Amino acid sequence: GREWHLIARPEGWPKPEDFALREAPVAEPGPDQVLVRNLYMSVDPYMRGRMNDVKSYTPPFQLNQPMDGGAVGKVIASNVDGLSVGDHVLHFGGWREYAVVNGKNAVKVDPGTAPLPAYLGVLGMPGLTAYAGLLEVASFKEGDAVFVSGAAGAVGSEVGQIAKLKGASRVIGSAGSDEKVRLLLDEYGFDAAFNYKKGPVAEQLKEAAPDGIDVYFDNVGGEHLEAAIGRLNVHGRIAVCGMISQYNVTEAPAAPRNLTLVIGKRLRIQGMLVADHQHLQPQFFEEVGGWIRDGKLHYRETVIKGVENAVDAFLGMLRGENTGKMIVAFED
Ligand code: NDP
Repeated sequence: GREWHLIARPEGWPKPEDFALREAPVAEPGPDQVLVRNLYMSVDPYMRGRMNDVKSYTPPFQLNQPMDGGAVGKVIASNVDGLSVGDHVLHFGGWREYAVVNGKNAVKVDPGTAPLPAYLGVLGMPGLTAYAGLLEVASFKEGDAVFVSGAAGAVGSEVGQIAKLKGASRVIGSAGSDEKVRLLLDEYGFDAAFNYKKGPVAEQLKEAAPDGIDVYFDNVGGEHLEAAIGRLNVHGRIAVCGMISQYNVTEAPAAPRNLTLVIGKRLRIQGMLVADHQHLQPQFFEEVGGWIRDGKLHYRETVIKGVENAVDAFLGMLRGENTGKMIVAFED
């Protein structure tokens, strides 16, 4: 089977030459392991950080080794009690066609409950990030005005809709194209949205949120974060989920320059990692699953076909070519 290796550590924007698709023998599963043929894999922003050789909350990818990440596949050989050939599993052996996975790291998923790619997106890690980030980290409460950046992406589109469903007074989103802005307004029910490429974020946010905001869900950092600090009301909260505008920079950004406002406004700025919020998983699955079934929560996916296109999908996601979760589907 083929698998993707990182072969050089990117400086700034990754290049296709930093990666290689290599052939590897398909291994036999050992005791308590399954052999999985992958059907879908996830490309996520945090993977950019793992390409740097720095200590972080997830270990860096090793050069000339297969990369990994979220994937869903079909069990084709099993030495695990409770997992049979033909079962579908969510696991972490992505970036490759075949994966040997320890039984305790494979979660059985039902394609009858939700389409398989949903377990990587709207009902998966990004979905839980949105749910936990808004409800727990940002302490969202009914009546809050919420601003979310990256609002047409996997996490952001769910943040905005959950806020709306839970009684936000106003939901504002920013995204990188007019088409995405239209989607936020017409399909996801945002009250206001703007294209951050079309003018200063602070000015556009002021127009979109004349009465200020109570929560900022940050996916982007930099100029967005500065604009949000400027617009937050007293006792406002910021959930710092991601800062994608900075993942490929080689020099530290200037913004936010207005941090002193945190004092007078008594703002709370809190970083988050989705792994800390696993206890919300059942509640998330129940509540968001219900909204999807009832047609109250909408989602998009951008699906790129073929393992050979996985790096292009990853780079495309960093450039904003996705609407909703970026997924790679393997040839059947
Ligand atoms: P998305 O589906 O949102 O895809 C990334 C999007 O980022 C692109 O589509 C693009 O949309 C936008 N983007 C890229 N560059 C910029 C830029 N310079 N300024 C503004 N927007 C930009 O990805 P996810 O939903 O998976 O992740 C969203 C954020 O959440 C990321 O920051 C990620 O790191 C973070 N995250 C954090 C987790 C945690 O535990 N802390 C867990 C999961 C995700 P556009 O066209 O609008 O520019």
